[in-house]
Amino acid sequence: MKNVHPLKAERRRQRRLAVLKTENPYCPMCGETALECLEVHEIAGFRRDAQAEIIVCRNCHRKLTTGLLNAGIPMVRESCSLERTAQCLRALAVTMRAEADALDRWARSLIDLEQEDFVNLNSCKRRLNNGTSQRKQQNQPSSP
Ligand SMILES: [Zn+2]
Repeated sequence: MKNVHPLKAERRRQRRLAVLKTENPYCPMCGETALECLEVHEIAGFRRDAQAEIIVCRNCHRKLTTGLLNAGIPMVRESCSLERTAQCLRALAVTMRAEADALDRWARSLIDLEQEDFVNLNSCKRRLNNGTSQRKQQNQPSSP
């Protein structure tokens, strides 16, 4: 669909960038870069610490929130500062575990890509060598 209001679109884009607080936002979990899909995740929960945040896509945000709930970390602010700090640390651990899993996925995809390229490179070399050897055979003078 053609954008009929480019100024409004640009204003929306600038507002999203201001909310995300960066010029080049992306989801560190999956690599998503579409502005409309990105949002802020409060690592320790909004009610505990709204300043400790990362940018993630909506899908990864839901996965992180589900991870917090599955770990028994409620979305409420504890009145006891010791308990609140403990839950902040647990929430940070859940987020860091998810980031570690994402890093592992990225590393494995690089390894797969490298192996795929290696296989492709080898098949290209074989084809090239076969073509070269066929041309050599065609160009060799026939023995009398
Ligand atoms: Zn994501």
